[in-house]
Amino acid sequence: MEEFGLNGRLPHGGFAVNRMGRLTLDGYDLAEIAERFGTPLYVVSEERLKRNYEELVEAFKTHYTGEAIIAYAVKANFTLAIIRVLALKGAWAETFTGPELHMALTAGVRPERILLTGACRVEAEFREALEAGVGLIVVDFPQELHRLEKVAGELGVEARVLIRVNPAMRVPTHPSIATGVRGAKFGVDIPSGQALKVFEEALALNWVKVLGIHTHIGSKIMKVKPFVEAASRLVGFVEELNGKLGFKPEYLDLGGGFGVPYKPEEFEKPFDLNLLARRVSRVITSGFKRLGLGLPKLIFEPGRRLVADAEILLARVLGVKETPTGKFIFLDASTNHLSPVLLVDQYYEMVLVNKADMEPSETVSFAGPLCFTKDIIAVNRRMPKIETGDLIAILSVGAYCKSSYMMHNAQPKPPTVMLSKHGIEMVQRGETLNDLTARDFIPPRLYHASAEPS
Ligand code: PLP
Repeated sequence: MEEFGLNGRLPHGGFAVNRMGRLTLDGYDLAEIAERFGTPLYVVSEERLKRNYEELVEAFKTHYTGEAIIAYAVKANFTLAIIRVLALKGAWAETFTGPELHMALTAGVRPERILLTGACRVEAEFREALEAGVGLIVVDFPQELHRLEKVAGELGVEARVLIRVNPAMRVPTHPSIATGVRGAKFGVDIPSGQALKVFEEALALNWVKVLGIHTHIGSKIMKVKPFVEAASRLVGFVEELNGKLGFKPEYLDLGGGFGVPYKPEEFEKPFDLNLLARRVSRVITSGFKRLGLGLPKLIFEPGRRLVADAEILLARVLGVKETPTGKFIFLDASTNHLSPVLLVDQYYEMVLVNKADMEPSETVSFAGPLCFTKDIIAVNRRMPKIETGDLIAILSVGAYCKSSYMMHNAQPKPPTVMLSKHGIEMVQRGETLNDLTARDFIPPRLYHASAEPS
């Protein structure tokens, strides 16, 4: 196991500690960056994004003889420059809503490389997708199917479709992000025969062209086994579809969900992409061969795996507070910037940037400055002695932080800078106070009214 410094507390080799004892990312001194751009500040590594994509592509190139497509799940982080970096490497985009589709198109992803998934699309969303010429639309349930047929017929264009199925299996992850489980709101159920019926219905339509099967079993899954199980259930379903309806899938989409290590102890057993590629490819290759079918194009929709460890959040220490039960370090970042802490109890590793070479000497909790008790970012962490004005790096915040940002106490969204061999570039400006009020109107009758006596 490679260790990247700070006694194994850094998730990848892009990090180092320089001669001044400060944390660096891709060779850039993070304390200098915070000085120049202020805090809180998201910092994203272009190198890491590219490397994460290359690792996935390589794994499937090595183990799958058919075509494997990596579609970046834009929901994880829709900063345009991030989508763009991945698209330039060859990634497709998976978009879940019309607005996410807009993000991907604006970032310059070619429409034929975009998948539109979703939970319950209205006609306008399907129309927008068909007019944009998206590559594939993933249909979730019969009502959507008929809506899409109607819109495609009106436009006179063929809708290239995958149907999302639910393998109804056990998925080892946080219950709020397990989707391939019995009774979940996504997809059509395989075991009850519902999925087969929907395919039968879809194959009889005029404007919908069914090209394959989609599933996404959940997010933050640390083991390969559930994906192998999902692949094998899909092969079983293909056998049924082929036997009963003569359907031959051109695409098999296994969704995303690959976990990343957040805690130092997890760095020793990261999600094994090569094992995933080898085992999933074997199940699909042998299954399709047995059925006498040509190999399908495989699609994966990773979000977290591509972006999580490519982005950090820099935060300044605002103050240090002793209580009878422990010590709080107050930061200028909050759970607004790290909402997975509240949503799925997410752990984020904290590093003292400006004294990165110092040994831990005390146990502290990190709090944000917001007006609710649970605005706590991290609890009982062993850290070197921290003082007001110090700089903290919160690691691996690339997935689902900015994209599920909250607005408690009207805290403006921080900017994002991207690091690359071309230097440090601002890729998203921070919100201003004007941005906070820009969408509101006070009707003139209220504006000109004088305060009423109470
Ligand atoms: N695909 C679909 C349909 C999803 O709903 C999600 C996440 O919710 C993803 C892909 C990406 O998942 P992850 O970021 O865990 O890879």
